[in-house]
Amino acid sequence: MSSSEFSSSKLSIRSKSDLIDKVFDAITTSGEEGVFQTELCKLFSLDSRDGSRLVGNLEKQSLITREKALYNGRWTYKLVVKKTIPVADIEQKPIDLSSIDGAPCICCTFQHLCSIDDESNSISPAKCQIIEEWVTTSFNKFVLISQSEQCGELIN
Ligand code: SF4
Repeated sequence: MSSSEFSSSKLSIRSKSDLIDKVFDAITTSGEEGVFQTELCKLFSLDSRDGSRLVGNLEKQSLITREKALYNGRWTYKLVVKKTIPVADIEQKPIDLSSIDGAPCICCTFQHLCSIDDESNSISPAKCQIIEEWVTTSFNKFVLISQSEQCGELIN
């Protein structure tokens, strides 16, 4: 990374937010090789305390990594942008909706009146006969399924 790449950015920096963006862009531009914190401070005319705070902020946001490194005989940090995982590479896990299967609230005609916030409200999950029956039935089904699975395991 050369000073000339950043000399123009020094002139256009107007706010702290702009500065953070510019510094992050600079770290991103340096790619996997990264950039030394000392070098970055010099290029953006930051003293070491401000520079440290600024990159610390980026590190807290998990945007960069900061590793101790020797540069021109002095200890500083090597700053590298964190790699982002493409959405396509993120493992898609199926969503299990079995626990709310048949829940009465989904199609309840009183849903708009139902609330847990007001204890004086006569329509609430705490006082609802429909949901109580659904929970009891679901629990009984769960117990039956668990018992039959245990029986199957014993037979096999
Ligand atoms: S708790 Fe009862 S009244 Fe409230 S939305 Fe669910 S089914 Fe309807």
